Amino acid sequence: MNPILKTLGLSDENPGGFDGQWVGGGRMQTVTSPIDGQPLATVANVTPQAFEAILAKSHAAFQTWRLVPAPKRGEVVKALGDELRKHKAALAELVTLEMGKTLREGLGEVQEMIDICDFAVGLSRQLYGLTMPSERKQHRLQEQWHPLGVVGVITAFNFPVAVWSWNTALALVCGDTVLWKPSSKTPLTAIACTKIAEKVLRGFGFDPAICSLAIGRGSDIGDLINTDPRVALVSYTGSVSGGRHVGSLVQQRFGRHILELGGNGAVIVSDKADLDIALRSIYFGAIGTSGQRCTSTRRVIVQESVLPAFRERLLELYRKTPIGDPRENQYLMGPLVDQEAVDTMLAAIATVKAQGGKVLHGGEKLAPPSVLAGGCYVTPCLVEVPGNLDIVKEETFAPVLYLMPYRTIEEAIALQNDVSQGLSSAIITNDQRESELFLSAAGSDCGLANVNTGTSGAEIGGAFGGEKETGGGRESGSDAWKAYMRRQTSAINFSGKVELAQGITLDI
Ligand code: NAD
Repeated sequence: MNPILKTLGLSDENPGGFDGQWVGGGRMQTVTSPIDGQPLATVANVTPQAFEAILAKSHAAFQTWRLVPAPKRGEVVKALGDELRKHKAALAELVTLEMGKTLREGLGEVQEMIDICDFAVGLSRQLYGLTMPSERKQHRLQEQWHPLGVVGVITAFNFPVAVWSWNTALALVCGDTVLWKPSSKTPLTAIACTKIAEKVLRGFGFDPAICSLAIGRGSDIGDLINTDPRVALVSYTGSVSGGRHVGSLVQQRFGRHILELGGNGAVIVSDKADLDIALRSIYFGAIGTSGQRCTSTRRVIVQESVLPAFRERLLELYRKTPIGDPRENQYLMGPLVDQEAVDTMLAAIATVKAQGGKVLHGGEKLAPPSVLAGGCYVTPCLVEVPGNLDIVKEETFAPVLYLMPYRTIEEAIALQNDVSQGLSSAIITNDQRESELFLSAAGSDCGLANVNTGTSGAEIGGAFGGEKETGGGRESGSDAWKAYMRRQTSAINFSGKVELAQGITLDI
C-alpha cells in the first residue's frame, strides 16, 4: 500500500459509507491511479439499505446541529481548517495519486479547502438578516435565516476534495448536515476527508454523522439522493447531462438544488493586449489539470492582426510542454483521468478535423518510455478553427484548445457567448473601453468574467458558478451561503391592535 494512504487513515480495503460508523457491504471497487494504472486500494460501495441508515442518521443529526449557535459551529469549521492545514501535503499527494493532477495543483486544491474554512468561520458571525420598515404603525418587519436540513453533495472527479469543502464549510456554519456522494473515480480522497471531519466532530463531542459519506454509483445512490425529500438541498457538480437529470428529479419534489455544470471557457485576446499576459494565462488555462477543469480555457478568440504572432508564441509553449508523472515538479501536465477521457479527446479531434479545423499541434496518446506505462498521457492539442464549429460548442473535457480570429470587439463577444455553457470567460486588453464593454450587460454572459487574467483559478471569496447550461448555481464566497439556509420573513405587531396591510379594513 502507498504510505500516503496509511498517513490519512486508509487501508487496503475501505468501507465506503459513514454515518457515525464506517459501513460498506456493497460492490467492491478497485481504485487505480491514472499515473500508472496501478491499484491503490479497494472500496466497498454502500448498499441501498446502508444508504437509508446513513440518510436517516444525517437527518437525525440535523435536528440537534441546527440548534448549536452559529459561531460555535464556526469553531468546528475552524478546527476542520486547522486539521486540513496539518494534512495539506498528504491530502494533496492523495489527490494527485487518485486523480492525476500535478502535485502543485493538488496543493492548491487543498489550500482552497483551508481558505473556504477560514471564510466560513467569519461567516458564522455574519449570517445577517435584514429589517425593513413596516407600512403599518408600531410594526416591525424582519428576515431571519434558518438552517435548511441535509445537504446532499454530489461531486465530480476533477476537484475531488475542494468542491466538498466549498459546500461543507458553508453548510456546517449554516447549521446543515452534509451527505457526500463523491465521484466513483475518486473515492479514496473522499474517505480521507470524511475521516478528518470525523476526528474534528468527535473532538468537540458532536455527532460525527454531521458529515456523512455514501460511495456508490450515480444511477443508484445518486438517484436515492435526488428523490428523497429528507435531502433539502442537492448540490450537484458534474456534466450538463447529469445536471439535467438531477435537476429535474429534485425539482419534481420541490427540493432545492445548486447545479455546477460544464463550461466552455473562452479568452478574448485584443490587439491592445499584453501578449505575455495573454500567453501565460491561456497556456495555464488550457493545459492545467490536463484540460480537466470546468473553467479550463477551451477557446481563444484573437484579434486577426495579432493572430499570427500570438499563434507562433503559443505553439512554442505547446511544443515544449513537459508531460509526465504529476508527482514530479518538472512536469506541468500529468495524465488524463482514464482511457475513456483519452478516447473522448481523440474522437473530438477527429470530429474537428472533419468539420474544417486544422490541428497545429498535439492530440496524440503518449506511450512509454516517454511516460509511465499504464497511465493515460496525451499531448495537449492546439487547433485553428474559423469560428464556433459544432464540436467547438461542446465541452470536451481534455486539453484541446481552439484558436479563432475576430475583427471587432463586438464580434469577439458574440463568439464568446455563442455556446450553450456560461461558466468562465476572460478578456486580455489594455483598452478600458473594451474591458468595460466585456463586463457590461452587453458583454460576457458568463458567471465568471475576468480581465487580464485567465478563465481558470477562481478565488473562494467570490460566488462561483455559471449561467445557461452551466446550471445557474452559485457556491463558495460572497452571499452564496444563502442557498444553504431558509429565509423567514416576520411581521411583528407591538401596537396592541390589528391593522391589515395595504390599508384593508375589517369591519366586525
Ligand atoms: P459526471 O457528470 O460524470 O459525474 C459527476 C457526479 O455525478 C459523480 O459523482 C457521479 O457519480 C454523479 N452522478 C452520475 N449519475 C448521477 C445520478 N443519476 N444522480 C446523481 N448523481 C449522479 O462528471 P465528471 O466526469 O465527474 O466531471 C466532469 C464534469 O463536471 C465536467 O462537465 C465539468 O465541467 C463539470 N464540473 C463543473 C464544475 C462547476 O463548478 N461548474 C466543477 C467541476 C466539474
